[in-house]
Amino acid sequence: MSLLLRNVSWLVTQNQTRAVLRNVSVRVEDGIITEIGTNPREAADQIIDCEGKIVLPGLINTHTHLAMTMFRGYADDMRLEEWLQSKIWPLERNLTPEICHYGALLGCLEMISTGTTTFLDMYFHMEEVAKAVAAAGLRAYLSHAVFGGEGSELEEKSKESTERFVRFLKELQNPQVNLAIGPHAIYSCSPELLVWSKEVAEQEKTVLHIHLAETRSEQARVEKEHGIRETGYLEKLGFLCPNLLAAHCVWLTKSEVSTLAKRGVKVSHCPVSNMKLASGGVAPIPQMLERGVVVSIGTDGAASNNSLDMFESMKVCALAQAHQRWDPAILAPQKVLDFATIDAAKALGIESRIGSVEVEKEADLVVINTMTPNLVPLDGGSLISDLVYSAKGYNVETTIVHGELLMKNRVIQTLNESEIYEKTQENALTLIKQG
Ligand SMILES: [Zn+2]
Repeated sequence: MSLLLRNVSWLVTQNQTRAVLRNVSVRVEDGIITEIGTNPREAADQIIDCEGKIVLPGLINTHTHLAMTMFRGYADDMRLEEWLQSKIWPLERNLTPEICHYGALLGCLEMISTGTTTFLDMYFHMEEVAKAVAAAGLRAYLSHAVFGGEGSELEEKSKESTERFVRFLKELQNPQVNLAIGPHAIYSCSPELLVWSKEVAEQEKTVLHIHLAETRSEQARVEKEHGIRETGYLEKLGFLCPNLLAAHCVWLTKSEVSTLAKRGVKVSHCPVSNMKLASGGVAPIPQMLERGVVVSIGTDGAASNNSLDMFESMKVCALAQAHQRWDPAILAPQKVLDFATIDAAKALGIESRIGSVEVEKEADLVVINTMTPNLVPLDGGSLISDLVYSAKGYNVETTIVHGELLMKNRVIQTLNESEIYEKTQENALTLIKQG
């Protein structure tokens, strides 16, 4: 299968030089970019005319709970602990594989339609999420949420579910549906479970994913119980490692940031979710960058966001840092776009395959329609600024993963939209009634 994106007006490469190329074509063969230039071979199985369009690498969302998209708008305006304990966990007790499958499909629809091509997920009934991702044609790293106090039944169940999921993905043999290991958080996992999770991630050579330092009260609780802050606690357990991708990282001291940097830990910054749950403070992104920590962006689940639109999260990321630091230039738009593309690929350890538009990389691409009120005028200052501050998910016209068109001219190609909307609406209302 060959695909030609012809006459791209602006090609945002996100390569080493961060070049934006003008009036070039991109040729794709069997899912891989084979040519970028002004004179490509014209014959192709599919041709997309990109005159007047922007093409950029597909966006990468490094922290979400996909099936929770069905809880959108269910429990707004609450703090994390209350939100989890009184609203989310009671509902989750009644989850079924089928409900999670449709919740995940809804999340896939939203990602495809807003330009996300790869994501890192942590939730339950992950076999169903994997099937949804495979049907949608997206690229994902999926982790079964690991929970449980020392010696608890939940601890054993979490291990069993994770082991079963590891086997399931091996049998599925879909190179776009990958494994991650997801111990939920320090406050919800025994130290043994954390160490076990790290060992499984090492053995399977994959991403280890955890929630870290999301709220001040969580840090206070760990300090009270263990006499040490969260990062120190994980360091003592030998948990910190280069394949660890930690979500949130809001309440970190400078010395904790240094510890993360020393161990090569990667960060998924979730500004919209943090602000919505009133986590207070703002993640110390500039300090992380000073110390060389790789930073990426996550939306978190739609239940605490309420969207999976990475354009929105990029904008809020930039605004939150500028506002907090009284410095509008604290975070360059180019860096913010890096967080959502090439740096996120680094955070997942797959920057040689995705995150930029380069020959021999996977054709995970997004085409932006510029003939919309919010993108005119364009490129008067900086095109990258336009993408971070002005663009919205709905400006995405076509979404491509491994050369496959998942959405073409805003029409989803791989999933049955109306069935997913109907089913999810019905499932969500039933769960809410039961909860
Ligand atoms: Zn989360």
